[in-house]
Amino acid sequence: MSDGNQEEQWKEKLTPEQYNICRGKGTERAFTGKYWNCHEDGIYRCACCGEELFDSDTKFESGSGWPSFYIPLKGENVAEHRDESHGMVRIEVTCAKCGSHLGHVFPDGPKPTNLRYCINSASLDLDKEAKKK
Ligand code: FE
Repeated sequence: MSDGNQEEQWKEKLTPEQYNICRGKGTERAFTGKYWNCHEDGIYRCACCGEELFDSDTKFESGSGWPSFYIPLKGENVAEHRDESHGMVRIEVTCAKCGSHLGHVFPDGPKPTNLRYCINSASLDLDKEAKKK
């Protein structure tokens, strides 16, 4: 399968906003996504491939307007990449399984990790059933 076909499949599966963010490394405007102020229990999965990425237990109030977590559910499920775009040096985080852009991780989070995973709501899909089992 060519890359072109893969891109067409993402376009069919995702909303235009999700496609822009997840496949085009875009960013939703702060305080506009569906999860920044969400306090429900569950597992946040990759909106593109369903991989388990973050646990609601590790979500915290960052004040940034984006859903924020202090640790991934499984470290190996979230990949890190040096990002020098927009005149800054940041660490981009992506879904390790499908490569979708999630957001960035910053060293100003709460204990115990002091990390802040600043994630686009559009990249996530909250599975409310996952923690009831
Ligand atoms: Fe994924």
